[in-house]
Amino acid sequence: MSLLAEDSAVVDLGLRWTPGFSTLGPEFFTELRPTPLPDPYWVGHSDTVARELGLPEGWRSEGALQALTGNLPVAGARPLASVYSGHQFGVWAGQLGDGRAILLGETAGEGQGGLEVQLKGAGRTPYSRMGDGRAVLRSSIREFLCSEAMHGLGIPTTRALCVTGSDARVRREELETAAVVTRVAPSFIRFGHFEHFAANQHEDALRKLADYVIDRYYPACRTTGRFNGNAYAAFLEAVSERTAALLAQWQAVGFCHGVMNTDNMSILGLTIDYGPFQFLDAFDPRHICNHSDTSGRYAFNQQPNVAYWNLFCLAQALLPLIGDQEIAVAALESYKTVFPREFEGRMRAKLGLLDSADGDRALIEGVLKLLAAEKVDYTIFWRRLSQHVADGNAEPVRDLFLDRAGFDAWLLLFSERHAQTPRQEAADSMLGSNPKFVLRNHLGQQAIEAAAQKDFSGVATLLTLLETPFEEHPGADAYAGFPPDWASTIEISCSS
Ligand code: AMP
Ligand code: MG
Repeated sequence: MSLLAEDSAVVDLGLRWTPGFSTLGPEFFTELRPTPLPDPYWVGHSDTVARELGLPEGWRSEGALQALTGNLPVAGARPLASVYSGHQFGVWAGQLGDGRAILLGETAGEGQGGLEVQLKGAGRTPYSRMGDGRAVLRSSIREFLCSEAMHGLGIPTTRALCVTGSDARVRREELETAAVVTRVAPSFIRFGHFEHFAANQHEDALRKLADYVIDRYYPACRTTGRFNGNAYAAFLEAVSERTAALLAQWQAVGFCHGVMNTDNMSILGLTIDYGPFQFLDAFDPRHICNHSDTSGRYAFNQQPNVAYWNLFCLAQALLPLIGDQEIAVAALESYKTVFPREFEGRMRAKLGLLDSADGDRALIEGVLKLLAAEKVDYTIFWRRLSQHVADGNAEPVRDLFLDRAGFDAWLLLFSERHAQTPRQEAADSMLGSNPKFVLRNHLGQQAIEAAAQKDFSGVATLLTLLETPFEEHPGADAYAGFPPDWASTIEISCSS
């Protein structure tokens, strides 16, 4: 298949498009074209995502480079920017929308439905407000790598096909260069899309949107019989449970999102909108990764509560459809049981416990307390504990603690709890639950600095490690070590 007909100036990527979000109608979006960027180049790409999209071998043609940077139209695409609203930092922010993300369309997909393809950083839209519609190289590499890292960890997320860059200047705190992330998800619909139509008392559109999302992504809500057959309440409950499960995964792996505004909450329970995120280095429950978050609203240990607060905003938005406040509140109830259940399940897996027992919660709380007291490196601790179960040598994990007696006391409880578990089985389970590689800030930073000098090998290397983060990757230990001192001086804010 020809990937580029240069003279026709429309690029056929080889994707099969199907009508999706655009069928909702004009009140949901504005059709527009991306704004070109000069002389683009490839910064990073994922062949795994390319395969999932059904792109042909050799998809990275010159035509694809131009099209995915927004410089040439994609055959069959119907680009648009969608409108949404939202609560930012706990305050109603009114209308927002895709200020720099342009949806190309939805692929036909095989089996599990289609995938939407967006260009993030592709120029101004009617929803850009004061923004320039651009994304900088730094944040685009972070979004690309973290999307794929989360997927590698088994955590629901939007995906990223590639990053393309241009030397065009973009002003942030300082001058940087522009980039575009091609990102991919079954849907990019956010809580904020629902809040938008509720706030504007546009009940027909609200219902249309809810019906669209239920029919495509939550069809079981029509038939569960939950809430006397109220499908909108069942939908709210299902979103709330997916969100609870997502948050359990974030907390277990030590992921801090950084900007959990309601417009950054996926209706499908995906991790979305990677900005000032961080994987914890030292375990500090109160860690704030977003330099702009002066009050710590989105501190690591606040995330589960914030998600619940955000679900209340969604419930409020869906109220006209649900029709009864008490039912809406009831639909959120299960968050309070699903989150702890899922979190304990994830932590049990990290501990290699193959079944559940009475003292497990104390064992989990005990270790988190120890880690917090000494600000032990979170990822290294869990990997070394796994290694200890595999080889019986406790010294490397013990060395992480100054309070040896405190750790030994916990380790004794841990060993007693494991007395009946076959060692190999427990070790395998732990090594498959405790990643060796996470996208630490300093690793991303090193890849970004090299990429700014046009050396993209660091991006590719990190991608390889993060795609399979539970594997040993011999020779890559430097990517699994403690962060250097300068890592704590990296400041990442909302401005990206
Ligand atoms: P965020 O919290 O980064 O997801 O962004 C919040 C809102 O601001 C969204 O509606 C974005 O589309 C918009 N936005 C962020 N950065 C820019 C930018 N550089 N240009 C235009 N809009 C932006
Ligand atoms: Mg956003």
